[in-house]
Amino acid sequence: MECPVCGGSDCVHPAPEVLNDLPTRFLPCFGCRMRVLDKRAPLPAPEYIEPCSCGKRFIDDVFAHMYGIMREEGDLTSRDPLIAVGSPLIHPGFAMDRPPFLPAKSLVLLSGKVHEKAARRIVAEVPEVRGVVKTADFIPGLVSHDAHAVPRVYTLLAGCDVRADIYPLATGPLVVYKQQSLIHVEFPRAGHPKLRSVAARVGNPPVPFFVDACSGPGTLGLASACLGVPHVVLNDAWYASAFWSAFNIEINRAYFDVGEVRIFGNLGDMARLPVVREPVKIAETVGRQVIEVYQGDLRNLDRVIPKDAHPVAALDIFDKNNQKEVSALLRDWQGRVGGDAFIP
Ligand SMILES: [Zn+2]
Ligand SMILES: [Zn+2]
Repeated sequence: MECPVCGGSDCVHPAPEVLNDLPTRFLPCFGCRMRVLDKRAPLPAPEYIEPCSCGKRFIDDVFAHMYGIMREEGDLTSRDPLIAVGSPLIHPGFAMDRPPFLPAKSLVLLSGKVHEKAARRIVAEVPEVRGVVKTADFIPGLVSHDAHAVPRVYTLLAGCDVRADIYPLATGPLVVYKQQSLIHVEFPRAGHPKLRSVAARVGNPPVPFFVDACSGPGTLGLASACLGVPHVVLNDAWYASAFWSAFNIEINRAYFDVGEVRIFGNLGDMARLPVVREPVKIAETVGRQVIEVYQGDLRNLDRVIPKDAHPVAALDIFDKNNQKEVSALLRDWQGRVGGDAFIP
């Protein structure tokens, strides 16, 4: 499959291919060396171990390699600890019980300190790195339901920042791709409480209609489709979320009872209208299972949901601590759409 961001042929793969080599992907061979470094301290000497002949290297030495480049380019000082390099996002990401041995192109670096020259060198010289993203002190994407909210994004400095996270489901692991500079990094919490609450609401036999009203890259809505819901609607006002929700149908189509997956939006065109209020259809499936994706404001979604649908709806809204906003959005949804709405 072609990567929608960089056009490369090795960024995105259908779920069965991603899952195939997962059990051994981050495990060492008998020859791999493991040097544990103190992340809270500066690197004592600018040294790193080269990748093993099997192509993997322990994550601490990948960090040491990046640290050396950022020191040479002036992005870090001799007093900065190793951890100042940034946050490593493993591809594909899932709950690991030990630190990984990284194969080629398996890490996206998020860093507030890196600049373009070092980022280019890191992608060119550190084989484990897929892409380098410059972060800042905000959450990327659209982070409020306020009609005037202005989205902000991080900057992809070098390489490609498309990566996947893997979510366990009773029916098989769901693979969810996203572009990391445009979408909020949501570190999965132990036991995946949001997925558990979706599974409980979907039930068995599954409810007939499920809505994921703030879908992000599509995790909860696609989980409900995996669990057998015959009609699923995913929606997000932010273009990157709507696009990746649509793209992830295609990635996980082996789980769905669908023939054709039609995707109407492409990333470049959608970026010109990053926030949409009136729902626009981005994708739909043809087959026994209907999965639709819209880009729009959840408060207008009643226009595309049949009046007699009475859906179960997950409203995964941004600021769940804002009780006033939470109850206003729930009340508004009940009045317009009805059914059973919940905050996952
Ligand atoms: Zn790519
Ligand atoms: Zn090895």
